[in-house]
Amino acid sequence: MNTKSAWTLKAQEQPLIIAGPCSAETEAQVLATAHQLKDTGVNIFRAGIWKPRTRPGSFEGIGRPALAWLQRVQAETGLRVATEVANTKHVEQGLQHGIDVLWIGARTTANPFAVQEIADALKGTAIPVLVKNPVNPDVNLWLGAIERLEKAGIKQVGAIHRGISPLGKSVYRNNPEWNMPITLKKLRPDLLLINDPSHIAGNRQLLAGIAETALALHMDGLMIETHLQPEAAWSDAHQQITPQALRELLAKLSGRPLASGTRSTTDLNDMRHSIDYIDEQLIDLLSYRMQVATEIGNYKMQHGLAVFQQERWAELLEKHTSLALSKNLNEEFITQLFDRIHQESVRRQHGVLPLIPVRAVAVGQ
Ligand code: PEP
Ligand code: MN
Repeated sequence: MNTKSAWTLKAQEQPLIIAGPCSAETEAQVLATAHQLKDTGVNIFRAGIWKPRTRPGSFEGIGRPALAWLQRVQAETGLRVATEVANTKHVEQGLQHGIDVLWIGARTTANPFAVQEIADALKGTAIPVLVKNPVNPDVNLWLGAIERLEKAGIKQVGAIHRGISPLGKSVYRNNPEWNMPITLKKLRPDLLLINDPSHIAGNRQLLAGIAETALALHMDGLMIETHLQPEAAWSDAHQQITPQALRELLAKLSGRPLASGTRSTTDLNDMRHSIDYIDEQLIDLLSYRMQVATEIGNYKMQHGLAVFQQERWAELLEKHTSLALSKNLNEEFITQLFDRIHQESVRRQHGVLPLIPVRAVAVGQ
């Protein structure tokens, strides 16, 4: 059973940092990672032991034997340890091994039966539990999972924002859908709310920008996947970063005005900082978009494809406009903005397609 019940999860002056590998793979990997993370400002070491994989055939976690590895992490580094649970058996084994914090994964949060089973198994314990948002954009389902745990008597319940599964292609693995954590925070300002930029980004490039935005939005902390050799990881290889990269990221973030004891402060400075970070993200995304446009230009050149596709552009614009309208953006503004973005893509594609005649401004992307 958890013997550290007096300990509180709630972030104080500094953001709460949870880091560690997506999955516990070997005892040596778990211990070496934890030792490297020990003095980096990380509060809690994470490692998935039971892995909810979207499709069968992928690595599904070490299971019970890895719990003893986490106990060694506690003993040797003094770090708290956290793992994901999805059923009664996981909860019981986690509690028996003195795991400090449990989290419920996004796929499990989407299933009230599974969440209720976990809540029932947790009755009478004092272990903190973090609930990831469900894979679909439903704040009530997220809140409902949190309430099931609270009703079971769990005092320390927090939320993790990890984005939602995109419909179709997206630059993100899971779209951040910032409205979800913002709404949850409005409904429950008392809750600990942390951000998981690793599962939102799905790659190392977008990770820092998401983390910055989360802190600018006054979230209380970050969960970041960390691996000694990210490319060789048995799960989520594209998004993990080394302990050294994490150290650099945290140093960069610590220069930022972070959520402090005054979580609800929204003075002019805070709001300006939020705008700065959001603009930086827009620039990152525009740069990424232009790179993709250039790649499409290269592809067309190599395959001798025709360039002119007015219909494709009209279709895109219509789709973007209706999405923008649903998010309270002005139609004229969005049309002009995308016209400019499109012109710039066309200019780039002309750069790689000098021999293909282009009429008008429409180039299919
Ligand atoms: C994880 O944290 O490794 C994980 C499986 O996350 P999610 O539930 O957000 O997909
Ligand atoms: Mn993962």
